[in-house]
Amino acid sequence: MNNTLCQDDHRYLGVLTNLVESQKPEEGRHRCAGCAYTKGVDDGINGNVRNINVDDLPLSQAGTGRHKSCTDAYDLGYNHGVAQRP
Ligand SMILES: [Zn+2]
Repeated sequence: MNNTLCQDDHRYLGVLTNLVESQKPEEGRHRCAGCAYTKGVDDGINGNVRNINVDDLPLSQAGTGRHKSCTDAYDLGYNHGVAQRP
């Protein structure tokens, strides 16, 4: 369980705006959707198996990622990462 608070600018990413809202703990309630998105991009680019543990994400309730599903943010990032593969 990660209890740090994310202060990164990715909390305000435009790509997070249209994600579905979620308050489910298993989808990362009150966790940073920006961190989930960037982990997805990294995993997608590097060809890693899709794997997100929302309890490992820092906390955040700020910005465009507020109340967004972290699992959806991860999937979106993963797809963007795959599209960026060299
Ligand atoms: Zn973050």
